[in-house]
Amino acid sequence: MMSAHQSIPNSVDAAVRFLAPRSSTNWTGTLNVSRLNQEIAAAIEGRLHATRHLSRTAFHIQAGCTHEIVAETAYRSSGLSARRICLHCRLEEEGSHWSGGSTWSRHDYGKSILGNTSERIVTNVDRDQFYALRLPVEVAE
Ligand SMILES: [Zn+2]
Repeated sequence: MMSAHQSIPNSVDAAVRFLAPRSSTNWTGTLNVSRLNQEIAAAIEGRLHATRHLSRTAFHIQAGCTHEIVAETAYRSSGLSARRICLHCRLEEEGSHWSGGSTWSRHDYGKSILGNTSERIVTNVDRDQFYALRLPVEVAE
């Protein structure tokens, strides 16, 4: 993923903020849960536990994965660097400015986790297809 990792919250209030839709345009980042129905609060906690489990499971699987099959979306001249994601464990990384071209591993001069191995199978996808491959959680360490 190579983006900043977000720690998983421990309280319902923090969980509500953590789980808020990222695309929401009217989300303020806070929700008063003081009078929230207990059944809804319990459901939010259940979702938080599931999110934590998914995040930790993905972290452990990613740590042991050989990343044999990778999807890549190419550099775009609008400033979007190439990105890669392992189709098995969904570990994602972003290339440097030098990752341009249709095949990242042949052009990037930076360190790579998923690239630069001749045995690796790479399939090219567009940005929308790439984003659809992402896990629905930030992976915690
Ligand atoms: Zn992998």
